[in-house]
Amino acid sequence: MGTLVDFTLYSDNKKNAPIAIKAASDEMQRIEQLFSIYGDQPNAIKTFNTSVPNTPIKLPDEVDTLLAQAEQLRRKSLGAFNPALGSLNKLWGFSRSTDASLPAPSSPPATDQISALQAASMHCIQKHHQNRWSRKNRDCKLDFGAIAKGYALEQGMQVLKSHGIQNAIINAGGDIRVSGKHGGRAWKIGIRHPRHAEKVIATINIEGDLSIVTSGDYERFYIYKGKRYHHILDPKTGMPATKTQSATVVTTNATSADAWSTALFVTGLKGIESIEKLGMSAILIDADGKIHTTENIESRLQLSFSPPMLRTSEH
Ligand code: FAD
Ligand code: MG
Repeated sequence: MGTLVDFTLYSDNKKNAPIAIKAASDEMQRIEQLFSIYGDQPNAIKTFNTSVPNTPIKLPDEVDTLLAQAEQLRRKSLGAFNPALGSLNKLWGFSRSTDASLPAPSSPPATDQISALQAASMHCIQKHHQNRWSRKNRDCKLDFGAIAKGYALEQGMQVLKSHGIQNAIINAGGDIRVSGKHGGRAWKIGIRHPRHAEKVIATINIEGDLSIVTSGDYERFYIYKGKRYHHILDPKTGMPATKTQSATVVTTNATSADAWSTALFVTGLKGIESIEKLGMSAILIDADGKIHTTENIESRLQLSFSPPMLRTSEH
């Protein structure tokens, strides 16, 4: 999934731990293959993305379920999250097949191309009965980049649990799924400063079943004529979203945390209320570097900002 995954287990069964990690890692790699739109290995998503428009094709149960969830999230987020941005993402070029030697992008694509693919990605997926789905045009392509990593984290943790592991943390490039405790104390998670890689803006102490997922504009980006271009697109414009530097969502399920952190990144501050209404917590750093949080965050998490005066939480 274009990232490294770390497993940390707290267990008194030294023999079982590596077996559990191997099984969880296999499961996460299985999910990568199932949802990847990169590389040569065929899968149902790639078949769908090249299918004849308006012709339903049957998807495996697991893909059907995640796609239905993604489509529901698109509606709930009022279009801030869209699982059909495959063509636009490819045009921007931030993600690439690891085996291809394509150069990293350094300047934005032509605006007429962006507009055409943006229009093609709007409401372009249709559900039919019994796992069958169709796309409305040739440029409508699925890309689960904003949700499948969360799903893989969630499934990875379930596999650890099925091996009897209760206390663990899985970290997929900063997207984190936690279970239980770190011995006698909570797990301590740092949230990175979006403009200073070596600084942490907040630390959260958490225990139990929780996921902390961040979408930021600082991992896959370039600066062109003084402006930052990055990999999280506003589906309404087809351009990189401009309201946010970093959006962190905390909730039990890692699939939801992943998708909503992307949606919140796109909506900026105005999405923070919906996050709270849905029972999730969030930390948002807006385009000016100001920090905002959901009101529920402090009652649910032990959170400390560094330095404390950085924070402006009114919204
Ligand atoms: P997130 O905010 O979680 O997601 C951003 C990604 O989602 C973008 O890169 C884009 O793909 C998509 N996206 C952008 N805007 C939106 C939006 N508004 N709504 C919905 N989706 C959006 N990267 C590689 O370079 N090579 C690979 O071979 C590769 N394989 C992958 C396979 C899988 C199964 C997955 C899940 C990811 C893979 N990736 C790969 C990484 C992927 O392309 C994304 O860059 C990564 O998932 C982004 O995660 P994030 O947490 O940084 O950002
Ligand atoms: Mg995401």
